[in-house]
Amino acid sequence: MTLAPWHTNRNREQLRTPTVIDLPLAMGHSAPKSLNASSDPVSYICSCGGSISPSTSPPTSLLSTPGFVLLFYRYWAASPVLPASDAHLSFDIQALAAWYTQQTTSLHLGGKIRIAREGFNVTVGGSATEISKFIEACAAHWSFAGLGLGPGNTDNKGELEARQRFFKPTPGCRCVFGGKASVRVVAEATPMGVEGYAPANWERVIALSPADFHAKCHQEAKQSVLVDVRNHYESRIGYFVSPLTGEPALRPPIRRFSQWPQYVKGNLDQLKSDMGGKQILTYCTGGIRCEKGVRWMQEKLGEGETVFTLSGGIAAYLEWINSEIRRGRKTVDESLFKGKNYVFDARGAVALEAEAEPVSRCLVCDNLSDRLDKCRSDGCHLVVVVCEDCQTTDPRCCHDCRDIDDACRSSTEVVEEKRKPRPMCACEKEREDQLWAKGRVRDKKTQGWRKRERKKAENSHGCVVRSTD
Ligand SMILES: [Zn+2]
Ligand SMILES: [Zn+2]
Ligand SMILES: [Zn+2]
Ligand SMILES: [Zn+2]
Repeated sequence: MTLAPWHTNRNREQLRTPTVIDLPLAMGHSAPKSLNASSDPVSYICSCGGSISPSTSPPTSLLSTPGFVLLFYRYWAASPVLPASDAHLSFDIQALAAWYTQQTTSLHLGGKIRIAREGFNVTVGGSATEISKFIEACAAHWSFAGLGLGPGNTDNKGELEARQRFFKPTPGCRCVFGGKASVRVVAEATPMGVEGYAPANWERVIALSPADFHAKCHQEAKQSVLVDVRNHYESRIGYFVSPLTGEPALRPPIRRFSQWPQYVKGNLDQLKSDMGGKQILTYCTGGIRCEKGVRWMQEKLGEGETVFTLSGGIAAYLEWINSEIRRGRKTVDESLFKGKNYVFDARGAVALEAEAEPVSRCLVCDNLSDRLDKCRSDGCHLVVVVCEDCQTTDPRCCHDCRDIDDACRSSTEVVEEKRKPRPMCACEKEREDQLWAKGRVRDKKTQGWRKRERKKAENSHGCVVRSTD
């Protein structure tokens, strides 16, 4: 297929910038880990040559042959559903995992692939050529049947648009995943942490295309509530705003998606009064968290609430608004998404092609910045915003982390001190108090819980499948 519509000035700009990208954060949906952890790069070096294929060596062709990162998912039960003739195949999740392992290995793709009984959640990166081949392979595979993706006829505008919408390509390469593909069989395609939950009625939430979502935000803006379904460190650097007031969306102080159900339950009365009788417009990065999370919320809120979600999430919206700006039909200021779209790979965040003002401030100097970093304290590593100038100041998320580290430095038993379990630091505690409405007893959902869930899933579905490096 042709990749022409994906080639943008920004692709070229990005490839002109140094290949050591000074951005953190490849940490999945879990809490940040140590800066030193090998699985968690804080920067990446493009060792695939900006995704150039070996046959096209001159640097100029590199500029016109950028690579891509794809972001896509499918819930079998959500429409468009898998044709009945293929439905039996979806039960063999091991076979589907093996197919991804074979694809990512033979096409040298990096990425994270999560396969569950309910569907799949995939992000992969590679050169333009490899990604193009991968898309062809997907379009011909049973697991993509019914989505209108092909196969093969690249002259067909409808198919091309469907592929663009479904795979949501952005500039990048396999190096943003450390050059590796991790294929895993899991309990949930994205971990909301509610065992066995499936929406009672998938059709009750209305998915809108980016253009329709944009229009819906403008219609009856007074009667709309925008809700961000992502984590607080994601919604800090970018969010949707009301076109009427410029007010940001409601952004829950959750640290991971598995806190979303607890957040909804714990704040139900508040949410009901905030949203009562209004149209609710929700969004997340690529759409997958809204699929179950928003249906779950709607079921808790009760009948009568009209809920819309942004199909393809912020990724699809940015692509749409970019194309509108390119065609001169919209200006940058008209984008209702402000700031950057946080992504779960070493690129850190993705923005509009045109320069947009940051919406967040540096933790140290309070100047506008959207540069992501991590608290440098061992055992904390919260994602923080620290500007270029302040990154050398050894930033800590709050005074607690600074104090703990100072105490460790002055202690003669530094190693012993560091081994002790860390209490929650002040800024984390403040966020947690906000989230759980102080003092309310809550279910414990720690990383240990996540690990046990994963073990359970592996035991019931077979072993973990990992592709080779
Ligand atoms: Zn690369
Ligand atoms: Zn600063
Ligand atoms: Zn900290
Ligand atoms: Zn802190």
